[in-house]
Amino acid sequence: MTTVATERPGPRILARAEHPISRRDISREALKVLYRLERSGYIAYLVGGSVRDLMLGRTPKDFDLATNARPREIRNLFRNSRTIGRRFRLVHIFFHETIVEVATFRASPEPPEGPDDWEEAEQEAIEADTEVTETAPLPEEPESWGTPEEDARRRDFTINALFYDIADYSVIDHVGGLDDLNAGVIRTIGNPDLRFQEDPVRMMRALEYAVRLGFSLEADTAAAIERNRDAIRTVSGARLNYELFEGLRSGAAAGIVAAWCRAGLFDLAYPNLRCDGPNTARLLEAVDQGIASRVPHADASLVGAFFLARFLQVVREMSSDGQRLDNVELLQRLRDLLEPTAAGLRLSNHTVHLLHHGLFTLTKMARAPERGRQVVKLSHQDYFPVAWQLHGLAASAGLVQPEVHDAWARALNRVRQDGSDDEIVAVGEAPPSPRRRRRSRRGRRRR
Ligand code: ATP
Ligand code: MG
Repeated sequence: MTTVATERPGPRILARAEHPISRRDISREALKVLYRLERSGYIAYLVGGSVRDLMLGRTPKDFDLATNARPREIRNLFRNSRTIGRRFRLVHIFFHETIVEVATFRASPEPPEGPDDWEEAEQEAIEADTEVTETAPLPEEPESWGTPEEDARRRDFTINALFYDIADYSVIDHVGGLDDLNAGVIRTIGNPDLRFQEDPVRMMRALEYAVRLGFSLEADTAAAIERNRDAIRTVSGARLNYELFEGLRSGAAAGIVAAWCRAGLFDLAYPNLRCDGPNTARLLEAVDQGIASRVPHADASLVGAFFLARFLQVVREMSSDGQRLDNVELLQRLRDLLEPTAAGLRLSNHTVHLLHHGLFTLTKMARAPERGRQVVKLSHQDYFPVAWQLHGLAASAGLVQPEVHDAWARALNRVRQDGSDDEIVAVGEAPPSPRRRRRSRRGRRRR
């Protein structure tokens, strides 16, 4: 009797000499974890976006690891670690400056962990800022732990499913990701309709990668977005919020928003924001320039880009007949403008506060400052960095006269140089906040 060849061919493996990834490009902390896992007898891979980016000669945002060690075993190897997520599937290993995330190989694609679990756990860890050693209550070991191949197949796109094996420095490809990387193609792993129905956010991610990497969508993947785009409405506000800010902070916000817009995803996901406003593209380009020069942006400044033009239009309408602006009415109109979005996107109260006052402050900055005191007073407000950033965006997009922006910049500089008040720091830059740190950590969901 002949056996039917039903097995898949094995993975494609590139030996060390056949690919460009060097250990020098991997963070010290990630290497340390990889080596300790490997020396303890486990499989230890670098996975996901970091392998993709290193293969392309780009700098990864973060380094994610996967292993056959179970969370409990990982915890035993690394004292300063904790399990994370609703099902405690991931382990975070804490170092001074960074956290390395390790996931145990999984078999099945499953609904992603909610960002809420993450925020809570991460906030606790950040606040504690000490060794995190307490044992989380680990559930029974789930049935769904998988093989490396299964773990590759549950991922979203072929280019995101490559493994870098610390045991022999090879790159392992179970899904055709190497060919797609070479061809510059975004392709779902498996049937795109099913994969998008399973998690509609993948449609947004597909377009985001295409823009960021300059890749194109494989035809079936593109067609499936057309067919399934309505499903984006079933995604929670928290995840849509997360995806929006990932896009806005990526340095390619203008292109990503335009792609989401063209695909009809943006309007469905963010019905209260307009992606095709007359100045949106220019404002987002200004955001991208700021990100490229490493200026930190508060969430309020980023999302403010969608409201700036509309708000300034309201101001113009209200003062068109030469009347003095009615501040009470303007504040009310501003609330009406922001409230539906704030609720839908689950913006934090703090972000809404900064956005509200940051926009309102623009009415006080419509002309060059006349008195130093005015500048000092405004610049002391907690929302001033956001107002200043929005003023800068508006100037770049031609919504505020550049001379007015420059006059404010000079006045702020003078105030700072005079040393008349030490607290006026870094005007134009939002101060670093735990929230920002948390967001960057949240970039590591759902591995
Ligand atoms: P980035 O450069 O934005 O960090 P990334 O590919 O690393 O890109 P992450 O969001 O950090 O993206 O996720 C890491 C990996 O986890 C992905 O490369 C992919 O393999 C897997 N992944 C993330 N989100 C999903 C999802 N929704 N469905 C399936 N797999 C996912
Ligand atoms: Mg990543």
